[in-house]
Amino acid sequence: MTAHTSALHAAIDARRDDLIALTQDLLRIPTLNPPGARYREICEMLAARFEPLGFQVDLIRAHGAPADSETYPRWNIVARHTGPRAGDCVHFNSHHDVVEVGHGWTTDPFGETVRDGRVYGRGSCDMKGGLATSIIAAEAFIATHPDYAGAIEISATADEESGGYGGVAYLAEQGWFSPQRVQHVIIPEPLNKDRVCLGHRGVWWAEIETKGRIAHGSMPFLGDCAVRHMGAVIDEMEQTLFPLLATKTTAMPVVPEGARQSTLNINSIHGGEPDQGPDYTGLPAPCVPDRCRIVIDRRFLIEEDLTEVKAELTGMLEKIKKTRPKFDYDIRDLFEVQPTMTDQDAPIVRTVAGAISKVLSREAEFVVSPGTYDQKHIDRIGRLHNCIAYGPGILDLAHQPDEYVGIDDMVDSAKVVALTLAELLLPEGSETP
Ligand SMILES: [Zn+2]
Repeated sequence: MTAHTSALHAAIDARRDDLIALTQDLLRIPTLNPPGARYREICEMLAARFEPLGFQVDLIRAHGAPADSETYPRWNIVARHTGPRAGDCVHFNSHHDVVEVGHGWTTDPFGETVRDGRVYGRGSCDMKGGLATSIIAAEAFIATHPDYAGAIEISATADEESGGYGGVAYLAEQGWFSPQRVQHVIIPEPLNKDRVCLGHRGVWWAEIETKGRIAHGSMPFLGDCAVRHMGAVIDEMEQTLFPLLATKTTAMPVVPEGARQSTLNINSIHGGEPDQGPDYTGLPAPCVPDRCRIVIDRRFLIEEDLTEVKAELTGMLEKIKKTRPKFDYDIRDLFEVQPTMTDQDAPIVRTVAGAISKVLSREAEFVVSPGTYDQKHIDRIGRLHNCIAYGPGILDLAHQPDEYVGIDDMVDSAKVVALTLAELLLPEGSETP
């Protein structure tokens, strides 16, 4: 172990309690999304931490972004610390929003439970633990090597859980991720402390509607049942589409392995009379449903083309139309994201992988995420391709009850990240204390 590595490790070990307390403080502000609560408050809490340490702090509201309102403004923070010498900028981007708490918790969901070496709470793993880890790593690095070359940025951004339009997408459009100001990006999403996540599969969401004709439920032959038409759509998916998707596999190292192929989920189905509220005590009315809608979530591979992915589905619907009397449908795009995968030779990939093997004494694993995260905006809008996700925590725990992040995992990950900063921001020869 070199002198600067052991000094960094000692500086992080000395901050272990601070790391736990910071994670808890972040969890105590329930930044639930939707609706997007208390974003300003969490940004101000972070600003109060960064400013005394000499960071230049910007609080940025994504005016006019989807869901931005006076009640729920979309606030983001970017904090930049600049070393005394010129060099690259390493940016850590975490989302500060968390998903709803949900049922089934046996611990406090907002930061009061620390036990068995874990910090529990909604967003502990995804990803306030990762945010706290990057902050502690940066603070330890700056304290140990105040003469470093370059800059360190830490951002906490809104709305990742709902697409990132009021967060990273907005910042990228404003130039915050332009390659002139930022050269390396780490997103501390919970991919495990020994894995480098290179990117993610693509996404296409669409709504399919089948059309019928309303009539009295006692005489369905006078109407046309849209739910039965949708049944034909789902049956065709079962017969031809799902088997086809299972044959489309990828060279991307997606984890879990089940996601190493094209997948399709039917997110929802609605047909006929809408559900009445809980106050309604009567019976439903007898009607033939004239509309039925499903929302599909198609995940596609870097080897696939989105135009062809869409054509595959519309081709299936057209085939039904040719054989099924009175079949009519609409299809509407809801959301799409292209797949992305950073090159394994990119500087940030090589540096973090090298730091993992030094700190954990094992080789880093390279993975790709089944779902998307904010890398899509950095890649497409920011045009910055030297970007990975790397952070502590177990991805499977994200969005679950009793979500937690392991304290040792955060400490180890902070050491990996601090060593990464040393590799990227300490010019050769300046390492000797
Ligand atoms: Zn996340």
